[in-house]
Amino acid sequence: MGSRSSAPLAPLLWYQGQVQAVLARSGGPLRLVRAEGSRVWDSRGRVYLDARSGLWAVLVGYGRDDVVAAVNAQLHALSFAPLTDAVSPVAEELAARLGTLAPGDLTSVALVPTGSEAVDTALKFARLFHHAGGDRRRHIIISREYSAHGGTYAGLSLSDPDRGLLRGIGPGLHGIRFAPAPYRYRCPHCGSEPACTLACAGALEDAIVKAGPQRVAAVFAEPVPGPGGVIVPPDTYWPSVRALCDRYGVLLVADEVVTGFGRTGRWFASDHWGLIPDLLIVGKGMTGGYQTLAAVLMRQRVAERLARRRVPHGFTYSGHPAACAAALACLRIVEEEALVERAARLGRRLLDDLGAALAGCPLVGEVRGVGLMAAVELVDDRGTRAPARLTTQSLRCLDEDLRALGVLCFVDNPVIVAPPLVISDEDVTRLVAAVAGSVRALAERRRRTERG
Ligand code: PLP
Repeated sequence: MGSRSSAPLAPLLWYQGQVQAVLARSGGPLRLVRAEGSRVWDSRGRVYLDARSGLWAVLVGYGRDDVVAAVNAQLHALSFAPLTDAVSPVAEELAARLGTLAPGDLTSVALVPTGSEAVDTALKFARLFHHAGGDRRRHIIISREYSAHGGTYAGLSLSDPDRGLLRGIGPGLHGIRFAPAPYRYRCPHCGSEPACTLACAGALEDAIVKAGPQRVAAVFAEPVPGPGGVIVPPDTYWPSVRALCDRYGVLLVADEVVTGFGRTGRWFASDHWGLIPDLLIVGKGMTGGYQTLAAVLMRQRVAERLARRRVPHGFTYSGHPAACAAALACLRIVEEEALVERAARLGRRLLDDLGAALAGCPLVGEVRGVGLMAAVELVDDRGTRAPARLTTQSLRCLDEDLRALGVLCFVDNPVIVAPPLVISDEDVTRLVAAVAGSVRALAERRRRTERG
């Protein structure tokens, strides 16, 4: 018999990606009531440095008057325009702006409400592109391990199957295959060699060949997977994958929902390697977390072919005027405050200082990152690189330690930090101290448990 006083396990409001009952038992959600710059406040008055940028979205910081004013003015002027046969001036202005920022001729823009819907849309576009060109055999999509592509059925189907996201739901979308990611630290081919042998690109080619090159529509990939572990590829990887996609007539779709608009210290992660994908997916940071908006950018040869067809990709809130106004205001801030350069500079510091602060820690296998995204990979054995076996309880303790030091991070293995691009120099110092202190404390707890 359940007692009347025990907290109900089924919540009034559902929390995403959580076992509801576990969250309820562990004290419930963080109740956030206010935010400014890189900081958020909870209902008990505690303040945290938000090294999660909300959920990778808050690039320009919280409480920006310019963004709030732009959204407000837009809502007064025009609060809706159906992006079916109508448009708002801000949606047109944003499309043009995105076209100038994106690499190459990625100048045709489909606006959608969320990153997951953009992924879904890009998948449809990629298959339709071949169909519209008279090639009806190409429907297979190659995705990669360690990937995260969102929460729709297409997004879950494209995400790393090892994460078990479709368990109990059903089979993944038809025609999706997986290839390894260029995860140098855990590469089965050259992880222990002094230099990358690019076997990862070879494995992607093998996946295309195995599927039958004339049946493959597209390769879907995050240029630097973020939630999957901040996996920075070797410099030769993307030029090589671009070349092999061209060789086999396969579209290359880059998911930059996490990495777009300065996160990696370039406007787009693709820019690090001069990569021009055929389709580019953006979202999250485009509106800095102030509104919901995402987009699929297409190269001209793709857009021109699709423009002759009726393409089923509509959503009621696509290109909402207030969201477009927020995006334009955020992109203006990123440019005027040189936040891309700032992310590159502070990112180098973050990485150097985190590496130095955790040097010699037996629990830390690798500290890696690019721009303002970094990961601390935890291992049981630095020699064999065996991943640390961490219980839910030990991860919770790590999270509690970080929160007690006033910092919010993505706590898992690896531990990931991705602060807003406006983070101050002093806050980088604070972040490094909190992460290093908490990880070292975890290492010490484990050492004591093993001994005792
Ligand atoms: N793509 C990537 C790389 C993501 O990390 C995510 C979400 O975290 C998505 C797509 C889905 O975006 P959204 O949550 O806005 O639907």
